Amino acid sequence: MSKEMIEAVLIAGDGIGPDVTAAACEVIEAAGAPIKWLPMPAGLGAAATHGDVLPEITLAELRRTGVGLKGPVGTPIGGGFRSVNVTLRKALDLYAAVRPVRNLPGVTTRYEGVDLVIFRENTEGLYTGIENQIAPGVVTSMKVATEGACTRIAEYAFDYCVHRQRKKVSVFHKANIMKLTDGLFLRCAKAVRDAKYPQVEYEEIIIDNACMQLVRDPTRYDVLLMENLYGDLVSDLCAGMVGGLGVVPGANIGRDCAVFEAVHGSAPDIAGKGLANPLACLMSGVMMLNFLAEKLNSQACKTAAGRIKGAYDHVLVEGKIRTRDLGGLATTREFTNAIVAAL
Ligand code: ATP
Repeated sequence: MSKEMIEAVLIAGDGIGPDVTAAACEVIEAAGAPIKWLPMPAGLGAAATHGDVLPEITLAELRRTGVGLKGPVGTPIGGGFRSVNVTLRKALDLYAAVRPVRNLPGVTTRYEGVDLVIFRENTEGLYTGIENQIAPGVVTSMKVATEGACTRIAEYAFDYCVHRQRKKVSVFHKANIMKLTDGLFLRCAKAVRDAKYPQVEYEEIIIDNACMQLVRDPTRYDVLLMENLYGDLVSDLCAGMVGGLGVVPGANIGRDCAVFEAVHGSAPDIAGKGLANPLACLMSGVMMLNFLAEKLNSQACKTAAGRIKGAYDHVLVEGKIRTRDLGGLATTREFTNAIVAAL
């Protein structure tokens, strides 16, 4: 029976990227999701084949389809190449990084009951990359905050709270030192909350104390909202609480486009060895399916997303086949096969 297919860009990326994206696509297809993948170049491989780490053709397809699944990409060191991730987020104005961090069934860690969602402002802060050498041995880096960007990420986070029955937003900041930039971030968050979401509990917490509180008792938090660099660091910290970078998915959302990708990088230490955990990428794919289910009212995407989650939960709970980062011996291929079988 033919079904209406939804086009989505696929960026395999570098390092473990091709392995984990191939695994994710295989499972998504086996689950019967109506996705037609459009493979597009980006990263180190693209620098070699297209002379650019982020070819215009890739951006054009993302703009046209409005959705993509992306593996991690490397940026060549030196040689004047731009960071693919930063450029992609800016070019498509993917202003909201959304990273749900939860304990997984069957994956025992030091923590229980972790259920957080991190909202990271994705377009400014120190990631503007505006750095200057102002004298020999003296360099500066410029942190940028704008009212528009601070307000829209806050709106996105509070709106998510209301739609997903979340109760509390904690804003991590360092406004005691960065009074203007982090001060603006706080002012915008508070203004959004007071004007439109008074029912959502709200707290502002200085990031050093916030991190200490996080590792003592992550269950005191619900939704975390922060600027770009803090979001990068806190995402990895939180990943460590639930089993590591192999199990934390993410989305980069803009007004017209959304790119789904795991929090982890290209993991050069295990690249090409067939050892990567594809779960974070697969979970990002599930986020993509749920996003499409909502956006296009696609029951097929919703059903596939539910089936995939059921399948990987089953494999994890059974505990026989898991990758090394989760204490097992399975390869990427074996773990993928187990999930497909569980479908
Ligand atoms: P980047 O600078 O690109 O963010 P990074 O320095 O954060 O990268 P990662 O590539 O994310 O580094 O890897 C950090 C560690 O986590 C490495 O030891 C890597 O092997 C491990 N790791 C990351 N992703 C996975 C995965 N999917 N499966 C297993 N191990 C992983």
